[in-house]
Amino acid sequence: MDNCIFCKIVAKQIPASVLYEDDDLLAFKDINPAAPVHFLIIPKKHLASLADAKPEDAVLLGKMLELAPKLAAEHGCAYVEDADGNKSGGFKTVVNTGPNGGQVVYHLHMHVLGGAKL
Ligand code: AMP
Ligand code: ZN
Repeated sequence: MDNCIFCKIVAKQIPASVLYEDDDLLAFKDINPAAPVHFLIIPKKHLASLADAKPEDAVLLGKMLELAPKLAAEHGCAYVEDADGNKSGGFKTVVNTGPNGGQVVYHLHMHVLGGAKL
């Protein structure tokens, strides 16, 4: 998509601090972090928002959700439950959709935030 900042990051036309890349997904640090750990997971395919996802995008959406805990753990935000059932760590996932959802960039992205109690 022309003039989509995240498509330009996918195309390496503008720089980003990339944490993960495969054929379908890209993850990079948020330029204006709202937590000690804050990165975005995006599909390489341009989808304007979650509301634009079609049934055929279900696997892609699943891949985004599956990647979140793996990358969060790699960046110090693992969710852990010990043998006694004590829970620690973890992270927050957020997908803003449309003006009322606070969406600013209209290329689907999932925020992953952690490193503090949010
Ligand atoms: P939103 O659309 O409100 O879910 O948020 C868009 C997010 O993208 C914000 O947290 C921005 O800080 C982030 N952002 C915007 N431009 C860039 C960029 N070039 N590189 C990394 N993050 C960005
Ligand atoms: Zn795009």
